Amino acid sequence: MIEDSLNSRTNLSELGEFGLIDLLTKNLDIKLSSTVKGIGDDAAVMDFQDKQILVTTDLLVEGVHFDLAYTPLKHLGYKAVMVNLSDVYAMNGVATQITVSIAVSNRFPVEALEELYAGIETASKIYNVDVVGGDTTSSTKGLLISITALGMASKEDVVYRSGAKPNDLLVVSGDLGAAYMGLQILEREKAVFKVNPNSQPDLDAYTYLIERQLKPEARKDIPPLLKKLEVKPTSMIDISDGLSSEVIHLCKNSGVGVNLYEDKIPLDPTVIAACEEFEVDSTTIALSGGEDYELLFTVSQEDFPKIKANPHLSIIGHMTEAGEGMHLITRGNTKIPLIAKGWNAMDKEN
Ligand SMILES: [Mg+2]
Repeated sequence: MIEDSLNSRTNLSELGEFGLIDLLTKNLDIKLSSTVKGIGDDAAVMDFQDKQILVTTDLLVEGVHFDLAYTPLKHLGYKAVMVNLSDVYAMNGVATQITVSIAVSNRFPVEALEELYAGIETASKIYNVDVVGGDTTSSTKGLLISITALGMASKEDVVYRSGAKPNDLLVVSGDLGAAYMGLQILEREKAVFKVNPNSQPDLDAYTYLIERQLKPEARKDIPPLLKKLEVKPTSMIDISDGLSSEVIHLCKNSGVGVNLYEDKIPLDPTVIAACEEFEVDSTTIALSGGEDYELLFTVSQEDFPKIKANPHLSIIGHMTEAGEGMHLITRGNTKIPLIAKGWNAMDKEN
């Protein structure tokens, strides 16, 4: 499908590594004063003055983390950046620079990598980060992308997973489950396409779900929003693996328990509709689906008035003493133990 979508094909070997790097990075300019030196020396140089530095990295592997049958390369580049920036925002920080490393087989023409970089460039513009380095090499099979993001925060602003206290409120941004249902739609269309390549799918009803899967947006807006509301979370994490697994991370790192209320979990109406169509339980999807890239955090009870009416935030539970355990309180008021069934990077089924 990559070959189908691109008119011209320049073999990677025609450019050589340095020619390729020059081509791919020619539109990337430096925007931030914290970037002293970007691409073009042995190492990039940054000046964060008195801030603490946040560093996070992610590796995406074709066939494990993405399927090029339905993932446009531009979207893939964009998403690879989002996955990393989301981790910086989850520390209550500001993302500032990224490095991009790719390994690629010669089945990809130069034009395919230009598409990938177009997505990276768009993300770096919208999210105001500088691309300051990386590496490009060949792989025997498929495409690998590794992005490292740098960010900064003042010492008093950094939020860890470990600060939640009993009675703190559990809060999540946005809504959950849409990215996973988007993936189900795309997998179904791929299966249909295999049987009938001439089929013209009507995906209008699923636009939001597919966008959440292919082009997620990291919650850059949440740390400044919390600052404006004068709320400092006691703990925070981003939702990459599914709500239950992230809630458990906060509990274990903070030494607390939780009561999570099923009826408080924010779901978009299109997620509910898709769950009915696929005959799956929407709560299960929100708990285990993953890839939502929303922020999950805890705040002190005192901060309740500051966040209660905010349209971006939902209060979905409260923390308890560790001895009380981690529970989901169902709509029928049954208390069931919360278990991590999140997306597992080592699981071949995914
Ligand atoms: Mg994370």
